[in-house]
Amino acid sequence: MPAATMDEVVALCKRRGLIFPASEIYGGIANTYDYGHYGVLLKRNVSDAWWKAMIQERDDIVALDSAIIQHPKTWEASGHLSGFSDPLVQCLGKCKKRWRLDHLQEAAVENGEDPAAVKCPQCGGDLTEPRAFNLMFETNIGPVQDESSTVYLRPETAQGIFLDFKQTLSYARKKPPFGIAQIGKSFRNEITPGNFIFRTLEFEQMEMEFFVPPEEAEQWYEYWCQERLNWYVKLGINPERLRLRPHEADELSFYSSGTSDVEYLYPIGWSELEGVANRGNYDLTQHAEHSRQKLEWKDPQTGKGYLPHVIEPAAGLGRTMLALLCEAYDEDEIGGEKRTVLRLHPSMAPIKVAVLPLLRKDGHPEKAREIYEALRKRMSTEYDDGGNIGKRYRRQDEIGTPYGITVDHQTFEDDTVTLRDRDSLSQERVPVAGLADLLEAKINA
Ligand code: ATP
Repeated sequence: MPAATMDEVVALCKRRGLIFPASEIYGGIANTYDYGHYGVLLKRNVSDAWWKAMIQERDDIVALDSAIIQHPKTWEASGHLSGFSDPLVQCLGKCKKRWRLDHLQEAAVENGEDPAAVKCPQCGGDLTEPRAFNLMFETNIGPVQDESSTVYLRPETAQGIFLDFKQTLSYARKKPPFGIAQIGKSFRNEITPGNFIFRTLEFEQMEMEFFVPPEEAEQWYEYWCQERLNWYVKLGINPERLRLRPHEADELSFYSSGTSDVEYLYPIGWSELEGVANRGNYDLTQHAEHSRQKLEWKDPQTGKGYLPHVIEPAAGLGRTMLALLCEAYDEDEIGGEKRTVLRLHPSMAPIKVAVLPLLRKDGHPEKAREIYEALRKRMSTEYDDGGNIGKRYRRQDEIGTPYGITVDHQTFEDDTVTLRDRDSLSQERVPVAGLADLLEAKINA
């Protein structure tokens, strides 16, 4: 069972300003969203966790931030210019909507229907024959729009890594097996509407190319499939709603000897969070050919060179956030009142602790601000003195804040505060001294 419905998650994100439609004052723009304050903080927590797992906790991967607009030959060599297209069909009935045939066929198979007889999902009309539609956004450098000035917004971050493979070898003091990781925006002219941030025109990818001796490729492929699956569990996703789905032979790209998708049980059904692919030496071969450069790794001892094979875990930041939000969404009841709560893992929560004065008088706000100012040096903290205490807690519950600190009259007697736990709702008295250490221990537990 999915943990929540998409409507519940979309409504909460809008209400609390995590994620909302872009350009809304002009009526919005399909498949494009903006991230507000808490959405930005959550996004940063996800990307920080990825960098930590890829860079900080290892010594065989280096970081890269390559350009979005690369030399147009990049996409010729990678195959994106000729092959990065989807089969597009248009409704011949009333609504004239455009759809991706492969998506309609997948949905038909899932529902036990004939994929060869799909109709328009909106109005039931017949569909045109499919035609190839390239997903890359095209633009021009300079004022003249001719073929020689055409460039593309990258549809994936991976190719920048291959272009910089040689450069990285020259300074990073690494030899296969080693990886290059990057996070950045990619752009695809997606036409399938809906499903919130699952499929958007621009999105952040977290991609890592792991270069290995050819004979070790299979072993590293298996390793990265497991590593990546475990990473999502660490972020707080229930393993029952996670699975690794190996691609069937007819789904594989021609150069790939193995690809598995890490899938999450979203409200729209099992769908791809991340792809882990064994890409062979296809990309380096292509770029070596098109650039006429040698892109081999050369063993300095033997002088022998070879083209490493590549294992690629390619994840989406937005899709990870959506999985975390769906997973965390919950509703319960406190004292007969309905409560909406995001049960995010404390390490992912946008705000770790809220500091609340019980009253807006008797020195409570001053003392609470003092505690807040000390805590915010160590963690993401919020001070809130607006409205009754129950309402303030409810607001923090909705953005997933795991801990609440309340300053009350007893604080002035024994220098203690109450520490409220979002999930168990327990309230314990703890000393103000050592509060940051205590909270940090809980967050990192
Ligand atoms: P799909 O089949 O769902 O279109 P894909 O197989 O084309 O995805 P990849 O090219 O493997 O996706 O990209 C790697 C990751 O980037 C995906 O697993 C996903 O998390 C993310 N991603 C790809 N396209 C989009 C998009 N349009 N919007 C949001 N995230 C995306």
